Amino acid sequence: MGDGGGRTIPSINPSDVSDVVALVPEGTPDDARAAVDAAAEALPAWRALSGPARAEYLHVWAAAIAQRADDLARAMTREVGKPITESRGEVGRAVVILRYYAGEAVREAGQVIPSQVPGALQFTLREPLGVVALITPWNFPLAIPLWKAAPALAFGNTVVLKPSEMSSHVAALLAETAAAALPRGVFNVVYGTGQAVGTPLLRQAAVRGISFTGSSAVGALVAAIAAERNVRYQTEMGGKNVVIVDRDADLDAAAALTAAGAMRYAGQKCTATSRVVVVREVERDFLARLQAQVERLPLGPVDDPAAAVGPLISAHSRDAITHAVRDGNAEHLFGGQLPNDSRFTHGYFFAPLVIRFPDADTPLAQRELFGPVLGTLVADDVDHAIALANRTPYGLSASLFTRDIRGALRYIHRIEAGLVRVNGDTTGVDPHAPFGGMKGSSSGSREQGPAAREFYTETKTVQINP
Ligand code: NAD
Repeated sequence: MGDGGGRTIPSINPSDVSDVVALVPEGTPDDARAAVDAAAEALPAWRALSGPARAEYLHVWAAAIAQRADDLARAMTREVGKPITESRGEVGRAVVILRYYAGEAVREAGQVIPSQVPGALQFTLREPLGVVALITPWNFPLAIPLWKAAPALAFGNTVVLKPSEMSSHVAALLAETAAAALPRGVFNVVYGTGQAVGTPLLRQAAVRGISFTGSSAVGALVAAIAAERNVRYQTEMGGKNVVIVDRDADLDAAAALTAAGAMRYAGQKCTATSRVVVVREVERDFLARLQAQVERLPLGPVDDPAAAVGPLISAHSRDAITHAVRDGNAEHLFGGQLPNDSRFTHGYFFAPLVIRFPDADTPLAQRELFGPVLGTLVADDVDHAIALANRTPYGLSASLFTRDIRGALRYIHRIEAGLVRVNGDTTGVDPHAPFGGMKGSSSGSREQGPAAREFYTETKTVQINP
């Protein structure tokens, strides 16, 4: 980590606030400049490598991560409060992401297009953007940096990552694995706050692409800078994700998957379920099952391997959610009460809570809370439920539980979400499938899978005449 001008910010274990995981340099514009200079210097040699040679490096990086899987998972659990089984899953996914993009680096890099000129050869080439800046949140501290960095590197870009100051320790471990695997300067990390180092990073002239994941408020600032500089960008932001429960749904499955999607990792996934719209006839039966499922999820400090719901990331987040719920004019249904146990006095815990929204337009049903709070609404039928589901500024993830194929087809076409499930959890995603949201959840591009090639490359159209 750079010296950040000497000032530091503590990164705290959210299960036990007496445990300071790292002292993070606040970061300065000079740190951002130095990292971009290093990336720019490494660019010519890296982009000149063949795809198969870059693929080989990504495989070595994947192996370096796999070798330190246990350290990485434990660090993640300690620093961001992710239950250990999920942290282990994220490390495994990091390895898969790198291997997938190692494969992509050796696939076709353009098309041959017939020309009007007889005998000419016309084709497209995909070329790297140059130096790309990646700004990432704390909640997937390995997977999100890698699902941006792996395609960026596979296609010949060099990278400067600005991770969240709340997950700097995991980012530093990631940087160590990169240093062991990649040529110098290809993957750089700058630490510190968004204002001190993130914004200056985006303003560096050599930065030709920006990929951001985080809140909608910060995403709007990032997009404004990118537009002003005419630099390619993508902003992947928040959600108010929804489950719809139809009258003929498998209510046991719907309740189990809604509880898991809403509450695991204390609801701190961008795809976490925060609204459930239930068709009136089954509301009572569904809510009874939901309550049983929510109460079964083990809540606890994440050094307990059984914990499925850990702490919130910060006191700020806990207080903001507490105030939003208190002022939100919603009916309390169940939950929200922490056990009277000393295990919960050292961290930022918030017990899973289920409320009934007064209506779909109330601020509590519109705003992302990013915690284990689920609000319910009732609908007359699936079409009414889809209309209620669409009444938010967001459009990231949705799921419908049903056995009616015709209703499911209408929902697939009408729901305003980038990730559309039937009979599944709103969370989780295959690393090789496009990922991203509609409306206020995204700038409209997609990450992962083949979509990443579109973002991290530029197209040249070449014509060679006889
Ligand atoms: P955040 O917006 O507070 O921070 C994200 C990153 O932006 C951090 O690295 C932060 O330091 C940086 N940043 C803050 N201010 C900045 C500025 N002025 N200029 C440049 N950079 C700045 O988000 P967070 O609290 O870390 O993460 C939670 C949010 O991320 C939630 O809204 C969640 O929905 C969203 N998220 C979205 C996805 C997705 O793929 N759609 C995935 C995960 C998380």
